[in-house]
Amino acid sequence: MRRRRIYEGKAKVLFEGPQPGTIVQYFKDDATAFNNQKHGVITGKGVLNNRISEYLMVRLGEMGIPTHFVRRLNMREQLVREVEIIPIEVVVRNVAAGSISQRLGLEEGTPLPRPIIEYYLKDDKLGDPMVSEEHITAFGWATTQDLDDIVQLALRVNDFLSGLFLGVGLKLVDFKLEFGRLWEDDEMRIVVADEISPDSCRLWDVETNERLDKDRFRRDLGNVEDAYREVARRLGVLPDNIPAEPARPKLVH
Ligand code: UDP
Repeated sequence: MRRRRIYEGKAKVLFEGPQPGTIVQYFKDDATAFNNQKHGVITGKGVLNNRISEYLMVRLGEMGIPTHFVRRLNMREQLVREVEIIPIEVVVRNVAAGSISQRLGLEEGTPLPRPIIEYYLKDDKLGDPMVSEEHITAFGWATTQDLDDIVQLALRVNDFLSGLFLGVGLKLVDFKLEFGRLWEDDEMRIVVADEISPDSCRLWDVETNERLDKDRFRRDLGNVEDAYREVARRLGVLPDNIPAEPARPKLVH
């Protein structure tokens, strides 16, 4: 069956879903960094991110945090609800790394006094510039009410995922979320959309601070696929080894 392709991004392709109001997300192995200047293929990444994102979205749903996720369809595809994507990347940081370290001169690994939320406009041509709440509301990308919901959701996601990852020996240094507006009977709800995976999170081993995320690709540290596989293994969702029971995190000693 040929489905209509709606959108092709850097790491995913979106197809029209089988029912109205649904979308199929196809996870590619392609990786980009530094605003598209660096390209590569991480063999198997799509399969791993599909599993990891499924797992995390389902766990969030169980905690009452609404997401667009419906179900995984196969190795590389998942069914999601169609939402109106808010054109803002919401970054939550617990520990300094990456751009905040550069911008503010903080050594990578410095714990932040509290979780810090940053907003970036989704615009490749402009290189996803950082924007403030003032910009977001003044230009109408989201309303004050939307932002209230987004901050609440982002902090709940952060608290929950920080604990979940800590349970498998990983420190959630920072991550990026996207949100969408989901319309149901003239009611609008903001839900977590896109994906949550080592492409969009910084995950460091608690003991060694080894980076098990996309920084391995960005910084040419090698063994990129192994790192993603290790995250999937610790979460109990490694494809070759899918347990019959719904997977639960395994404690790492
Ligand atoms: N991030 C992302 N997509 C982007 C930019 C950042 O998923 O387009 C994630 C990134 O993986 C990290 C967090 O957001 O977990 C913060 O990234 P940062 O601002 O430090 O930017 P970077 O160092 O990637 O330039």
